[in-house]
Amino acid sequence: MQIREYQKKLIDDLRISMEQGHKNVMVQSPAGSGKSITMAEIAKRITRHHQRVLFVVHRRELVRQIKDTFSSWGVDMNFCKVYMVQTASRRLKKLITPSYIFVDEAHHSLAKTYRKIFDHFNDAHVIGFTATPVRLSGKGFKDVYDDLILGPKIKWLIKNHYLAPYTYYSVEVIDQNALKKSSTGDYTRQSMENAGKNIIYGDIIKSYQKFANKTKAIVYSYSVQSCKRVAEEFNRNGISAKEVDGKTNKEARQQAMKDFRIGKIMVLVNAELYGEGVDIPDCQTVIMLRPTQSLSLFIQQSMRCMRYQSGKRAIIIDQVANYTRFGLPDADRNWTLEDRAKHPQKEGATVDGPAIKTCPECFGVIKANCVACPLCGHDFSVEIRELKQKKEQELHKIKAQQIHINYISTKKPEELNSFRDLALYGKLHGYKPGWAYFQAKKRGLIKG
Ligand SMILES: [Zn+2]
Repeated sequence: MQIREYQKKLIDDLRISMEQGHKNVMVQSPAGSGKSITMAEIAKRITRHHQRVLFVVHRRELVRQIKDTFSSWGVDMNFCKVYMVQTASRRLKKLITPSYIFVDEAHHSLAKTYRKIFDHFNDAHVIGFTATPVRLSGKGFKDVYDDLILGPKIKWLIKNHYLAPYTYYSVEVIDQNALKKSSTGDYTRQSMENAGKNIIYGDIIKSYQKFANKTKAIVYSYSVQSCKRVAEEFNRNGISAKEVDGKTNKEARQQAMKDFRIGKIMVLVNAELYGEGVDIPDCQTVIMLRPTQSLSLFIQQSMRCMRYQSGKRAIIIDQVANYTRFGLPDADRNWTLEDRAKHPQKEGATVDGPAIKTCPECFGVIKANCVACPLCGHDFSVEIRELKQKKEQELHKIKAQQIHINYISTKKPEELNSFRDLALYGKLHGYKPGWAYFQAKKRGLIKG
């Protein structure tokens, strides 16, 4: 396997940034863009010169995974150690001082455990990798990082066959009004429970059959309980499904993953367990049942089905209107290390180009200016004509109002014969609200 052009560019940009004197650098690159290979290539170049790398990760499964990727890429593992962040922060005195600290999913890397490691090895460069440099709190990353290097855009990766193209459907099944945000910024568990109280689980199966029948799908739901019910419903309809959660033991989890890989299980249901690092190329569909305010989570989950495979078209079924909060997964976004003062997620989600709408016929989420739905051919010309007429009527109304205002402004108060006109006159001349009432009453235009 060879390194890709855009990965080479990312590494060059990183090198230049460090040569310019930036000590700690954050590297952004979309999910599925081959981040672990990029990291391996950087580590290979560093360890070749017998400089040390300490790689900290936040999930146990990743330790093995990264070690495997790195050694098969030719990283000298005598000079590269991979640890869970908790383990590393407890053993600081025992670790050999690294020249570089690598952090995966670096949008978490301002947490205390990470900071403790950075502070202890304060001469080491920190290189943080993430698909989504954004935090729920809206706070930035300047406390740790001096520079941000941006990878290729998702649209570009799709266009150049590094990620699969996708179709996005929206069929809401929960009650959005019940959702409440917690102090951390995402929805509370309780409010998600309330919002999902009246879910008709059969509808989820119907959407799957309608938009994604017979495809391999991952379902993300908001609670273990709801996951279990989804899996049950799929199985009842003759579609093999398995629910997996944090309490499922390791063997059973591995078995479920294996069965999913070989197609013995078609639908894998979980609550946030399978995010980064789950790589099943022929998984074609993602069903979202977990409403979120976290852009990181939205991108991580929705793009799980977009690994490239020749001829594959990914299907995203959004049952909780997440797209109304973030736009589509491949929208261009303004990544920054700075704090995001207001509406942190909205800013991060700055959607480029045309707005989007949901097709009433097929539930596809499509560009707002489409006259015909590209998915089902639904004709929007009537809707567009009505919208245009409504706009024209409004414009007409505004024009008529303006003409009337011009007319009033040329008159004297005694020439006006209604309270409404006197009130308008008073407003134009900055009189107190009581003036028009007094005038009108004096001239008998209003009674009382
Ligand atoms: Zn349509």
